[in-house]
Amino acid sequence: MIPSKFTYHKASSVQEAIALVQEHGDEAKYMSGGHSLLPMMKLRFATPEHIIDISKIDGLSYIKEEDGLLKIGALTTQTEMEYSDLIRDKYPIFSDTIKLTADPSVRNVGTIGGNIAHGDAANDQPAVMLARRATIIAEGVDGQKTIPIDEFFHGFYMTALEPSDVLTEIQVPQAKKGSGGAYHKVERKVGDYATAGVAVHVELDDDGICQEIGIGLTNVSAVPMRLERGEELLRGKQITEDLIAQVGTMASEDCEPTSDLRGSEAYKRSIVNTITQRMIRLAMERAQH
Ligand code: FAD
Repeated sequence: MIPSKFTYHKASSVQEAIALVQEHGDEAKYMSGGHSLLPMMKLRFATPEHIIDISKIDGLSYIKEEDGLLKIGALTTQTEMEYSDLIRDKYPIFSDTIKLTADPSVRNVGTIGGNIAHGDAANDQPAVMLARRATIIAEGVDGQKTIPIDEFFHGFYMTALEPSDVLTEIQVPQAKKGSGGAYHKVERKVGDYATAGVAVHVELDDDGICQEIGIGLTNVSAVPMRLERGEELLRGKQITEDLIAQVGTMASEDCEPTSDLRGSEAYKRSIVNTITQRMIRLAMERAQH
């Protein structure tokens, strides 16, 4: 299908982008890579009258460690993350995720900021950001906002961002000794959205006790979800096979999948159970090396 008619604007700074959205109000929408927005427009699920292209704003594409944080500029493409030595060496949870996201042509253009700002529980990064306890940085009419990831996803395609907010940076705590993470999703074919996916980040002390854990689930709820009950069970304990099995069961119970072309509700609950267990084991293995 062809999108409805719109006027194209190109912003060369965050301030210019914000001013354009203020000028055009509810009818305006930001576009980074356009690989989520344009398909929605072609299906007429979104019909913005003004597209504000922010993809060429300077200074929003970077991956760096600073002040104890990994900082990723919102316009960093998924391919840039895939080929980052820093990500590959120290943050394998992101490498796992990006390799399973769409295909290279989408990853070349789709940005990390757009993947999160879209507010789609089917996208892969939201679950990872929940597991990694990310912080979202945005610029709005009243200046900079800092939004903890647990307060970011509000509903189906709804986030804490105001229409004029530009997501500028994603921050996650820097990888430390004894920490490890992993992501996997089951997909019908290469490049498909997840039938179900699970992200796990774990931090173990020298005695192997779980100091911190994050578990995020992909595409098994309307809003990207954290498996808080499972995290609580493991925190402060030596993670045993018995506990891992219990958390797998909790994941299958607490998620809220619906039956669709990707599989029945029961099938999705079953694979969430299996992948949760596998990702906890893999995250622990990585934390121990
Ligand atoms: P855009 O499409 O430009 O924007 C998406 C939304 O976010 C829009 O509402 C826009 O207004 C808003 N937005 C964008 N950037 C900002 C910002 N900086 N500040 C505020 N708001 C902003 N994703 C997956 O995770 N897993 C997959 O398996 C997957 N498969 C795909 C398969 C296909 C065929 C396609 C076309 C896409 C697929 N995607 C998948 C989505 C892809 O990763 C998107 O590119 C990405 O999710 C969105 O990034 P974008 O830069 O293209 O955002």
